[in-house]
Amino acid sequence: MKNMNKKRILTGDRPTGKLHLGHLVGSLQNRVKLQDEYEQFVMIADVQALTDNFENPQKVRDNLKELVLDYLAVGIDPAKTTILIQSQIPEIAELTVFYMNLVTLERVLRNPTVKDEIKQKGYGKNIPAGFAMYPVSQAADITAFAANLVPVGEDQLPMIEQTREIVRRFNSLYGETLVEPEALVGQVRRLPGTDGQSKMGKSLGNCIYISDDEKTVTKKVMGMYTDPARVHPTDPGNPDGNPVFIYHEVFNPDKAEVEDFKNRYREGKIGDVEIKKRLALVINQMLEPMRVRRSEFENKSEELHGILKTGTDKAREAAKATMVQVRKAMKIDYE
Ligand code: ATP
Ligand code: MG
Repeated sequence: MKNMNKKRILTGDRPTGKLHLGHLVGSLQNRVKLQDEYEQFVMIADVQALTDNFENPQKVRDNLKELVLDYLAVGIDPAKTTILIQSQIPEIAELTVFYMNLVTLERVLRNPTVKDEIKQKGYGKNIPAGFAMYPVSQAADITAFAANLVPVGEDQLPMIEQTREIVRRFNSLYGETLVEPEALVGQVRRLPGTDGQSKMGKSLGNCIYISDDEKTVTKKVMGMYTDPARVHPTDPGNPDGNPVFIYHEVFNPDKAEVEDFKNRYREGKIGDVEIKKRLALVINQMLEPMRVRRSEFENKSEELHGILKTGTDKAREAAKATMVQVRKAMKIDYE
């Protein structure tokens, strides 16, 4: 049953790896903040993960549990948020088929995020059709649950735009049926990777994971990319666009300290080591309570299974309700 008083959120992640700091500031913080105000659905996008991991289904399977643990660790509360598994909602696949009539191949391949990913994965001309179509399937994910709001990172904005286009086309052809969603980007639109690449990404090997232990975080921070032109701590350095300083700005609550670090860096009066040590400490302090929560759930397989079962069942009901409307609008309601 749709809670008539609350607007809906649909968001999710691909089970392609553990969640990282980019997810935290790009999307997870918003989910935790909004789960009281909205009726929230969080989807484990295993079907989407398979579009570029279809040769390695075990990887997707193994990461599913990690994803749920990450959700619980950051404070997503299954009593307030519905956590569901995409592949168990066949209505999403049905909607995808219908929506494919409403987009052109040219439009799908013009999506800048899809273009980037095709390049990254080295597909060349051999792009799996399922991969190219994943933004269409994402439109199905969002509209199946009649979501009003979608908390995402910047790389997902073209997907939401594409969804809005599909919704408008559907509604103009078949009558007002689908809800047109809006994107909500987080505190940070796109957190760079530890290697200085523009995006921290699970598939890019440049992540600090929410589940990393203290030593691992420290090691990753100490190895971070900084100003490559700076050889000695007495050389003047450039904090702009430098991932170590970007992380300080995002994660260090002591803003005066960050300003002081930047000034001394520019003047060549502070070493990278000191700045990085402080950053590692700040990130570790933030992650500690999440590590504790994660460990509380780690061995409770049955409880995790129950959360997914309850969530997926509830989500299926919501998707079925949408399908009734869609079938009617498309004149395929034969019963
Ligand atoms: P993959 O490399 O497998 O695509 P990913 O790290 O991009 O993994 P997703 O599961 O695709 O993670 O993304 C889940 C959500 O997190 C999306 O809303 C995405 O925009 C957001 N997100 C991912 N990486 C970042 C980042 N570096 N900064 C901000 N938001 C991010
Ligand atoms: Mg991604």
